[in-house]
Amino acid sequence: MLNQTVVNLLYLLSSVLFIYGLKGLSHPRTAVRGNVTGAVGMLIAILATLMLGGVRWEIIIAGMIVGSVIGAVWSFKVPMTAMPELVAMFNGFGGIASVLVAGAAFVMTEAADIDMQLTVSTAASGLIGGVTFTGSVVAFFKLQNVKWIPDGGFFRGQQVLSAVLLILCVLLGTVLVLSPASVWAYWLIVPVSFVLGVTLVSPIGGADMPVVIALLNSYSGLAACATGFVLMNSVLIVAGSLVGASGVILTNIMCKAMNRSVWNVVFGTLGPTGSTPSADDVYAGKVKATSPEEVAMLFDGARRVVIAPGYGMAAAQCQHVVRDLANLLEARGIDVEYAIHPVAGRMPGHMNVLLAEADIPYDKLKEMDEINPTFSQTDVAIVIGANDVVNPVARTDPNSPIAGMPILDVDKARTVVVIKRSLSPGFAGIPNPLFAADNTLMLFGDGKKAVLETIAAIKAG
Ligand code: NDP
Repeated sequence: MLNQTVVNLLYLLSSVLFIYGLKGLSHPRTAVRGNVTGAVGMLIAILATLMLGGVRWEIIIAGMIVGSVIGAVWSFKVPMTAMPELVAMFNGFGGIASVLVAGAAFVMTEAADIDMQLTVSTAASGLIGGVTFTGSVVAFFKLQNVKWIPDGGFFRGQQVLSAVLLILCVLLGTVLVLSPASVWAYWLIVPVSFVLGVTLVSPIGGADMPVVIALLNSYSGLAACATGFVLMNSVLIVAGSLVGASGVILTNIMCKAMNRSVWNVVFGTLGPTGSTPSADDVYAGKVKATSPEEVAMLFDGARRVVIAPGYGMAAAQCQHVVRDLANLLEARGIDVEYAIHPVAGRMPGHMNVLLAEADIPYDKLKEMDEINPTFSQTDVAIVIGANDVVNPVARTDPNSPIAGMPILDVDKARTVVVIKRSLSPGFAGIPNPLFAADNTLMLFGDGKKAVLETIAAIKAG
C-alpha cells in the first residue's frame, strides 16, 4: 500500500497530465495524443487511489466489469449522429455519481469530524449533481424529439418555479451547514434538485439544446469538484474544476455561435418566438431542382468551390465520397475548401470529426469567421445536408428561433447547390429561403447517392 505523500505526488502527476491532455485536445492534429494523455492521467489517479488501501477489490472489479461492458456496447451501437444524446447521458451519470458518493461519504463521517467545508461541499454536490442528472435526462429525451416534453416547458411560468426550487435548495443547504446532524436536509436537497433539473431544462427548445449539453457538462464537473472537497481528494477537485471550466468555455463559444446569452440558457428562457413564415410562403413556385449532370457542368470553368457540410452529411455518412468529389475537382485545378459552422451537425466539432475520418487535410477546414468573407469570390458553394447553419433568416427575421445566429454566408456565392432529400426543415424546424433563392439549385436525394452521381457525371462529362 502507498502512503499519502506518494499518492499526493501521483495525483499531482495526474493533474499535470490532464492539463496537457486538454491542451492537446485544442487542435485536431494533437487531439488523439491529448486524449491518450488524459486517459493515462486518469489511470494513474485511479490506481493511486486504490493503492491507498481500504477498498474492497471485488466491488471495484465488479463495477469496472459492468461499466466497461455497458461502455463497450454503447460505443459500438450508438451512431455518430446520436453522440449528443450519449454525451448528455454521460453528464447525467457524472451528476448522479457525485450525489451518491457525496451523500455516502457524509453519512459515514463521524459527527466529530464534520466541519463547515464538509457540509457546504456535500450540499453543493447534492444540488449541482441532482440538477445535472435530471437535466441531462431531459436533454437526452429532447434530443430524441419525444413529444411529451413540449418545447417551452410543461406550463407557463416554469422559470418562477425553478427560482423557488433553487431558493429551497439553498435554504436546505443552510440547514445542513448550521446543523450537520440534519442529514435529512441533504436527502431533501436531492429530490428537490431533481425537480429543478427538469424545470430548468424542459423549457429550453430546439436550437438551444447543444448549449444546454455543454452547460450540463460543466455542471457535472462542478459537482465532481464539490465531491472532491467532501472526500478531500485533490485530483477529483482538479479534474472536476477542469471539466467545469472547460464546459463553461465551450458554453460561451456555443452561445456566441448561436447568439444566445448564457443567462437565457441557465434560466431556460426561450429564444425569440413568434410567427414565422410557412413553408408554402417561402417555397411556392420558387424552388429550382437540378440534376447531377447540370451540377457537373457548373464546375466547368469554376476556380473556387466551398463545401458546407451539415447534419445530413453525418446522416448519409457521405464524408468519404465528399472527399472523392473534392479530390476530383482539385485534380481539375479547382480550389476546394470546407466551411465549418461551430454548431453544424449534432455536437461540437461534429463536422471536423467526420471530415478528419475521411482524411481531409485539416488546413482545408475553415472556421466560419475565416471562410465567410470568401464566399463572394466563390463560384460554387455546395451545401451537403446543412440547413439551419446556412439559413439567411437568422440575419433577417427577429421572430425566428435562430434569430441572430451567425450563419455560413453560402448565399453570397455565385451559385449554391443544396444537396438534401426534400424541403424538410432542419433541427430548428423552420423553412429556409436559401432553397428558393435565385442563385440556388436543389439537388434532391440522399447525400451519398447525390454526391456519387455528381462524381459520375463529372467523369462522364
Ligand atoms: P439541420 O438539422 O439544420 O439540417 C439537416 C438537414 O440534413 C435536414 O434539413 C435534412 O433534410 C438533411 N438530411 C438528413 N438526412 C440526410 C441525408 N441522408 N442526405 C442528405 N440530407 C439529409 O443541420 P445543420 O447542420 O445545418 O444545423 C445543425 C442544427 O442542429 C442547428 O440548429 C444546431 O443548433 C442544432 N444542434 C447542433 C448541435 C451541435 O453541437 N452541433 C447539437 C444539437 C443540435 P432532408 O430531410 O430534406 O434530407
